[in-house]
Amino acid sequence: MIYFSTNKSSTPVSIKKATLEGLAPDGGLYVPSEIPRFSEPEISLLEGASFNNIAFAIAKKFTGGEISPARLDEMIEECYGFDTPLVEMDGSTFIEELFCGPTLAFKDYGARFLARLTGYFAAEDDRLITVLVATSGDTGSAVAYGFQGIPNTRVVLLYPSGKVSRLQEQQLTTAGANVHALEVKGDFDDCQRMVKQAFVDPELKSRLTLTSANSINISRLIPQSFYYAWAALKLKERDGIGNPIFSVPSGNYGNITAGLLARKMGFPIGHFIAASNANDSVTRYLDDGRYDPHPTVTTLSTAMDVGNPSNFARLRYFYGNDHRAMAGDITGIAVSDSETTETIQAVYNRFGYILDPHTAVAWRALELHRRSGHHPEMPGVVLSTAHPAKFLETVRAALHKEVEIPARLLAVLEKQKNAVAISPAYDDLATFLKELDN
Ligand SMILES: *Cc1c(COP(=O)(O)O)cnc(C)c1O
Repeated sequence: MIYFSTNKSSTPVSIKKATLEGLAPDGGLYVPSEIPRFSEPEISLLEGASFNNIAFAIAKKFTGGEISPARLDEMIEECYGFDTPLVEMDGSTFIEELFCGPTLAFKDYGARFLARLTGYFAAEDDRLITVLVATSGDTGSAVAYGFQGIPNTRVVLLYPSGKVSRLQEQQLTTAGANVHALEVKGDFDDCQRMVKQAFVDPELKSRLTLTSANSINISRLIPQSFYYAWAALKLKERDGIGNPIFSVPSGNYGNITAGLLARKMGFPIGHFIAASNANDSVTRYLDDGRYDPHPTVTTLSTAMDVGNPSNFARLRYFYGNDHRAMAGDITGIAVSDSETTETIQAVYNRFGYILDPHTAVAWRALELHRRSGHHPEMPGVVLSTAHPAKFLETVRAALHKEVEIPARLLAVLEKQKNAVAISPAYDDLATFLKELDN
């Protein structure tokens, strides 16, 4: 299996190079040269298989023999030692809970797999890889806990002091060992600027192998297809219903791109809803074929506040830039903040189930899609991307009640914060990185 750049001018590379580089040299995103297909008999064999067995079957095709099956199997076991529940709400609507990992958000699925692949490939060359990430919250915590204790890797996270929630700060600063947190006295843009400068600093380059772990890495995307395949097969085997419609709370559109991969591999998926908040650049494109990104606006579903989604380039690539074909498979629906709050209330009143604001956007979008008469025959799967306790203030304000905090979250709050305070001057970061080396 080889990987191309969406910009088509870089040389094709192996999964190893694509993983360690992240972005292609021509500025494009890596995509597989062809999407592996599962035949009908192969799919039937996977019905009733465990999550990890399905994950293994998919990962094996994408890594194309570059990792021994035994080692790949071990990695998958290490990644997904938690459940992926598929909760039945009514006879035709299900919630897939993707928040049972260590940081209570779906980004654990991608970050944990990327971390192990990075460590594996770095060890092959006897290298130490330094992962440098600027974060405003959620990605950083998944990366911190994903890379925690992975040999041949270490992580340096930059976050803006006082601008992340206490819970997020605890998740960023307590992973320990090979994970270093830098508390920058500035804002997120300062953090990003400093990281960008490090990547082009020739002196640092001669001393360290730097890589980023942002959502454009193909090895963060591949593992997100696992839970689509798992849910589609589980519905068929357990509930006797097929070809579900997935409603996906979308920000950078990595999650829905992974869903598309699962469908192209041959897993039984009927349709997709790209649910967005007021950041509706892709929603508008799906409507009229014009891509006219607007600046980012702040909403209640903060992890989806992206004005110009990076994975849109991959989506376009997979459809050969054919807007009609894309709109045939994916319906874009935007949901306002007031609808988000109403949905948290309505679903709680009807089912006693607490949605986080991102999941509420996806729930609402599915409801609107059905109300306008589309795909009445298809069961619906709403992807739940975060535990409601991660967005306590919003959920409390909607329900006027306390939200129970899971024990593993409370445990993180108890841990000792471990961060190095630095100024927003690049020299501070460069000095820290050089001293790390000694
Ligand atoms: C990152 C994130 C999203 C958006 O996912 P994309 O892959 O960027 O579309 C949705 N919900 C939560 C909770 C997130 O952290």
